[in-house]
Amino acid sequence: MQVSVLASGSKGNATFVAIDGAKILVDAGISATRIKKALAAENVDAADLDAVLLTHEHRDHVVGLATLSKWYHLPIYSRRKTLASLPISIQQAIASPLLHPVDGAFRLAGLSIMPFSTSHDAADPVGWRLAGSRTVAVCTDLGFVTQTVEAAIDGTDVLVLEANHDPAVLKDGRYPWPLKRRILSNRGHLANADAAWAIARMQHRPKDVFLAHLSQENNTPDLAYETVSGILKGQGIDDVPLHVARQDAAVRLI
Ligand SMILES: [Zn+2]
Ligand SMILES: [Zn+2]
Repeated sequence: MQVSVLASGSKGNATFVAIDGAKILVDAGISATRIKKALAAENVDAADLDAVLLTHEHRDHVVGLATLSKWYHLPIYSRRKTLASLPISIQQAIASPLLHPVDGAFRLAGLSIMPFSTSHDAADPVGWRLAGSRTVAVCTDLGFVTQTVEAAIDGTDVLVLEANHDPAVLKDGRYPWPLKRRILSNRGHLANADAAWAIARMQHRPKDVFLAHLSQENNTPDLAYETVSGILKGQGIDDVPLHVARQDAAVRLI
C-alpha cells in the first residue's frame, strides 16, 4: 500500500493511493503537468492510473482534470450531480463514456470503493473509502463530521482527514466576514479540534493519519499538529502517527 498526498490545501488537492496493485487518484486539483511529475516522483506513470475519484466540483479539486483526461483517457468517478456541476470547459473536454456517476460502493481494479456524503457547500460532495487488503479513506472539505462520515472512516488503516483551520486564528484574521462565516459553517471546512475529536471518537482508529487541506491563512502545520496531537494525548491516545500534508510538496506513506 502507498498513500501519497501530492498536494493539499485551497490552492489544489490530489492524493495518490495504491492498494493491491490498484492505482487511484483522488481529486485532480493541480495541473496535469504537476500531477504527472508528482506521480513520476512516486515512480508511478500517470498513464497507469486505474481511475480518478472526485470529492466535489470545486476548482481546487478539479483544475487538472480536463488535461489529465485528454492525455490519459482515465475513467472518472463521482456523484452524478458533481459530474454535472463541473465547469463547462471541463465537461466539454472529457468524453462522456469516461464519466461514471456512482451512488454506492462499487468494485474497481480489485478494490471495493465507496463514496460517502460529506457536509460541504458543493452539489453533492463525498469522501472516499478504498478497501482491499488495506483500507484508506480520504475525507476533506467538510463542515463537520456526520455519523455517515464517522462510520465510513472507522476501521481504516490510513485516514486523510481535513484539519483546515483554528477558529480563533480565523476569527481574528483578515478574511472578510462572509468568507469567515462560510468556512465556520457546518457546510464549510473542518477545524483542527474537530479533526482531533473525530479521531478520538473512532472505535477502530487508523494506523496513520494525514492532516490535510490546511488553510494557509488560518492555520500552520505546527498549529494543526500540536492541536490535534494535544487533544489526542489528553484522551490518552498516543499511538496514532500524524503526518501533515502540504500544499506545495508531496507527503507520502509507503
Ligand atoms: Zn477544497
Ligand atoms: Zn470545497
